[in-house]
Amino acid sequence: MLRLPPLDYAAPSDLDEVVALLADEGSVLMAGGTDLVPNLKRRQYPGAARIVSLRRVPGVAGIDVADDGSVRIGALTTLAEVAADDRVPAVVREAAGLVASPQLRNRGTVGGNLCVDTRCHWLNIPETWRQAAEPCLKAGGEVCWVAPAKKWCWAVSSSDLAPVMVALEATVRLVGPDGVREVPAAELYRDDGMDHLAKRPAEVITEVVIPPLTGLRAGYRKLRRRGSIDFPILGVAAALRFVDGRCNDARIVLGAVASAPLRVTAAEELVVSEPWSEGLVERVAEAAGKAVRPMSNTDLTSRYRKRMVPVYVGRLLRDLGGYHE
Ligand SMILES: Cc1cc2nc3c(=O)[nH]c(=O)nc-3n(C[C@H](O)[C@H](O)[C@H](O)COP(=O)(O)OP(=O)(O)OC[C@H]3O[C@@H](n4cnc5c(N)ncnc54)[C@H](O)[C@@H]3O)c2cc1C
Repeated sequence: MLRLPPLDYAAPSDLDEVVALLADEGSVLMAGGTDLVPNLKRRQYPGAARIVSLRRVPGVAGIDVADDGSVRIGALTTLAEVAADDRVPAVVREAAGLVASPQLRNRGTVGGNLCVDTRCHWLNIPETWRQAAEPCLKAGGEVCWVAPAKKWCWAVSSSDLAPVMVALEATVRLVGPDGVREVPAAELYRDDGMDHLAKRPAEVITEVVIPPLTGLRAGYRKLRRRGSIDFPILGVAAALRFVDGRCNDARIVLGAVASAPLRVTAAEELVVSEPWSEGLVERVAEAAGKAVRPMSNTDLTSRYRKRMVPVYVGRLLRDLGGYHE
């Protein structure tokens, strides 16, 4: 059995105190702990000295709908709560309901899901197994075992909600030592497996705001080995707006193919270039497939995952646009 390393634990009931504690080197923030705790047990964060829990802070959980129809989801809201709440857009409920397993969705939160660490076969294994080889970049070494020719970490963005929030143009509210800022979900991510979040370590997500989806058709499809529990090895989120049989606004975002959610702009530009048809869907799906190069660092082969991109994009677009295979 893997055990946690010795760590201090703090659970303040004040957000400013959480932020202040996170400014100390060695502090790590915990919400549900379903990603953080296994990673700590595998000794993925050797510098960690203290867990700072968000769970006692009031006002960071819950779901509200504003007068303009935008939906605010507090960062501590569990995925199970999101999946079960009719006020939340169906695509978000669907994606939340596909995360992990019921137990993990009862504990795991929206904020934790948006920040879930990038994953790689060479890293997400117990420390004793990792010791069989020289440590990889993310484990503090000098080499990436996935692509040794380049000194770059390719660990994969593995959040189900991240591509959906990017496709819906949601906004994330961050509270940190310098105050409050709101950033588009797309700007929360960096395509760097070692440092995938564009936020300071002491910044805490307090909520995500989804703008009104008036006229948007949105969906999410997920590929994974076991439907009962696994992380995505491909996620496809799309938000399309149709006027007179033509899509005039499209966002297509892929998860689990890079270190950040990937907007496939070549595919988006194609979607809006001509009236909707089966031929168009096929070309858009193919363009999405060409835009990605999954690496051999997660479940199933990279070749298979690449081949599944046009299949999953095509299926989702047919569902949203009304064409079926
Ligand atoms: C077996 C298994 C299967 C899983 N399958 C999936 C899956 O299919 N899809 C998926 O997306 N995830 C999956 N997960 C990962 C995880 O369960 C979920 O992503 C969950 O939503 C994480 O939320 P949490 O509250 O438990 O996060 P935590 O573990 O508490 O935190 C995760 C990370 O986010 C940071 N964090 C947490 N809250 C905030 C905040 N408010 N502001 C800033 N940073 C924050 C933490 O510091 C930590 O780095 C799986 C985990 C396991 C163990």
